[in-house]
Amino acid sequence: MITGILILVRGVGCFFIVNWLYSFSLFFKADLGAGGMIPDSIQVTFEDGRRQVFPGGVSLGEVLGASGGSDRAWIAARLDGNFVDLNRRLEADATVAGVSVESDEGLEILRHSASHIMAQAVKALFPEARVAIGPAIEKGFYYDFDVSKPFTEEDLVHIEAKMAEIVSRGLAFCRKELSREEAITVFEKQGEVYKVELLEEIPADTVSLYEQGDFVDLCRGPHIPDTGYLKAFKLTSVAGAYWRGDERNRMLQRIYGTAFGDQAALEKYLHYLEEAHKRDHRRLGKELDLFSFSDELGAGMVIYHPKGAIIRHILEAFEKREHLRRGYQIVMGPTLLKTDLWKRSGHFDHYRENMYFTEIEEQSYGIKPMNCLSHMIIYKSKIRSYRDLPLRFFELGTVHRHEKSGVLHGLLRVRQFTQDDAHILCMPEQLHKEIQDIIDFVIEVMGIFGFSYDMEISTRPEGSIGTDQDWERATNALIGAISDKGIPFTICEGEGAFYGPKIDVKLRDALDRRWQCATIQCDFTLPERFDLTYIGVDGQRHRPVMVHRVILGAIERFLGVLIEHFAGAFPTWLAPVQAIVVTVSDVQLDFAKLTHERLRDLGVRVELDDRNEKLGYKIREAQVQKIPYMLVIGDREVAAGSISPRRRDGTQLETMTPEVFAGLIEKECLDATKGKVGLGII
Ligand SMILES: [Zn+2]
Ligand SMILES: [Zn+2]
Repeated sequence: MITGILILVRGVGCFFIVNWLYSFSLFFKADLGAGGMIPDSIQVTFEDGRRQVFPGGVSLGEVLGASGGSDRAWIAARLDGNFVDLNRRLEADATVAGVSVESDEGLEILRHSASHIMAQAVKALFPEARVAIGPAIEKGFYYDFDVSKPFTEEDLVHIEAKMAEIVSRGLAFCRKELSREEAITVFEKQGEVYKVELLEEIPADTVSLYEQGDFVDLCRGPHIPDTGYLKAFKLTSVAGAYWRGDERNRMLQRIYGTAFGDQAALEKYLHYLEEAHKRDHRRLGKELDLFSFSDELGAGMVIYHPKGAIIRHILEAFEKREHLRRGYQIVMGPTLLKTDLWKRSGHFDHYRENMYFTEIEEQSYGIKPMNCLSHMIIYKSKIRSYRDLPLRFFELGTVHRHEKSGVLHGLLRVRQFTQDDAHILCMPEQLHKEIQDIIDFVIEVMGIFGFSYDMEISTRPEGSIGTDQDWERATNALIGAISDKGIPFTICEGEGAFYGPKIDVKLRDALDRRWQCATIQCDFTLPERFDLTYIGVDGQRHRPVMVHRVILGAIERFLGVLIEHFAGAFPTWLAPVQAIVVTVSDVQLDFAKLTHERLRDLGVRVELDDRNEKLGYKIREAQVQKIPYMLVIGDREVAAGSISPRRRDGTQLETMTPEVFAGLIEKECLDATKGKVGLGII
């Protein structure tokens, strides 16, 4: 039998010398207290199926090292499916696998460890700082600190340097298990009030602490074996954050950082961050004068400035035409609908929290969060026969949904938005074809904007309504329609809405980020609740199937994605200003004005910059505005009676007449939109 002595020898490097006796007792208790005797030998099954026998009490690091490959390749282990430290010792037969830093879980462990190292660095530099919580998050980590004054950019540089020093010392991360009361004593002694508060709420009797060097933290783990495993990290920003996210609490300082398995991966990510920052639609929205928000007016409500409004107008005109071309009918419903109707649809019971209500002449109304209801009222306005179906009602419907102020985010998360919404009412046997047509529509539109996309089908969840036959038919229609196109898709089992299965389309932008846009949802409940029927071939009344679908989704959100995708440099067909006429001096003013008017007559969206500014200044400004064409008018142009356009990328075109130039722009727009948008769409 392997005794505690051997374990002590193996474990000793892990403890502080100063309190090693204390640690020893804790360690002993943790490792041997619970299970009693450790067997002499242990059978380890690796996840690839191999088996090997090891002495009892062997560490996972030793087991994985013996399994081939250096133990340095692993940063943690999976023990019977749970993620644990590499220095965890085996007390019974187990299934084991290594966790590499390349895996998602490995990265999370690395980043969580980095947050501990950052906290240690902060405590070393700012001993009065109190630590709160420090988790790994998507793409990085953070830690919240209570400090008397906010951290500066310079502080971050010092903290980073201190972290590098801690990393170079290769301090072991040591897990200790102790009673909740003992842990409270540890943190009370250190004045760590936030940890004490957390501990007081933990229901468990035993908790685990992790120590590296002189820093100790309340933590479930696991962690990297020692600080030397942190190879590539960067602190990215600092922001205020309320303790527990509650504004009645104290404001803490949250430092964000990120960590990767190697320097190349870190640099790639930092480059991406820089690029994302440059493309941030909130910044570009201001710079390009597209839209704004106003607290005075109300949070989450977009105000379209002229240049933003014209883009939206182009999108809407494009959509109306494309819908009409595909046999949709444009409809319009009111914004206020009687609350009784929302009760009947189920929105009042299930969606009330997100709705706005008002009362007029003692009658309660709800502001629509969705456009479905008036479309159904239109359907019910007369008797429908199978010959009328499918009916496709399209509305650029403006809806209001209450979103918490904390989650509002530029154009991406707003309270008022307009959807390119349609409801298709059809016979069950028409569903397959309808879905196929919608998929074609989505593919064509995504192609025009240059997005690639992924499709997901969500199937029947628990507690759903509708018959097995309904669900099977609809789900098969969705799967069949995508498969027929040869488009790869993933199935999200049980993720459908309670009223029917759906397809979600996630587009990928220029930075390979995924955004939800189109969605196609089958619905068995609303036709039932509103008793929608049609007279079938048999002369009997039947229930139609209803499909809710959007192509772009919320126009606001789509515009936000477009701005970031194009980094504000819209293609000519979508650019709010396609060309700008710039004068060298006032001498050319008359000709410049004529050119400007002529181009406007020809349907070009054109501006004239006749300010008495230096030419270089005016050119720079047009570049910042990312205008596709610049037409500088100098003496030569006036003498020749023509213009010499220059593209946004710097290419200088030959001299031409305004008519030829307008033709060139039109061709460019038509080419980019597969013939759908030329000049004069608006
Ligand atoms: Zn932790
Ligand atoms: Zn709907």
